Amino acid sequence: MKICFATNNLHKLDEVRHLLGSSIELVGLKEIGCGEELPEEQDTLEGNSLQKAQYVFDNYGVSCFADDTGLEVEALDGAPGVYSARYAGEQRSSDDNIALLLKNLMDKNNRKARFRTVFTLVTPSITKQFEGIVEGEILESRRGSGGFGYDPIFLPTGVSQTMAELSMEAKNEISHRGRATRELVKYLKSQEGSSIL
Ligand code: IMP
Repeated sequence: MKICFATNNLHKLDEVRHLLGSSIELVGLKEIGCGEELPEEQDTLEGNSLQKAQYVFDNYGVSCFADDTGLEVEALDGAPGVYSARYAGEQRSSDDNIALLLKNLMDKNNRKARFRTVFTLVTPSITKQFEGIVEGEILESRRGSGGFGYDPIFLPTGVSQTMAELSMEAKNEISHRGRATRELVKYLKSQEGSSIL
């Protein structure tokens, strides 16, 4: 069985490969000869991950899955959400994104937030979505130097370290992406030997 993860992020590829084991061969966009930027024009995580996976399936004829992730802040009606990467502008700077988020939350008592990842799997016979969520709160200042993106200001519920203070293993254990990945992998493994791919 062979399947493409529609990403150029080698770290994400490694993470899923590790969970999948050896019975399913996982390839990235480079390996299927896809060098162009994937379309991502929808206004939901579900829409964007479907658009990316469908694009690869339609244009390259391989079974494929794609991910999309956002940070959803309750007091900001779910923003930055699907716009998390470019919240403070097209320069896609994590530092600028964090600064803007802290500014927009300055007068808010409700600091509840969650990271949400949606994977969409597209094969000749099915289209299916998988979700992973981690709940937490936004701190008033940064803590920790690991991870990426909004990790330094995100404190997961029931944990005393921010996402940026956790080891990679500990983060994967509780994270949105880790949870969504395990759901997807569980499904793929349950289909081994069937013809969905
Ligand atoms: P992507 O869909 O994985 O590219 O994520 C979109 C944006 O969400 C990233 O550019 C980050 O700003 C943010 N993000 C995604 N995953 C994480 C995470 O694990 N920690 C912190 N920020 C994240």
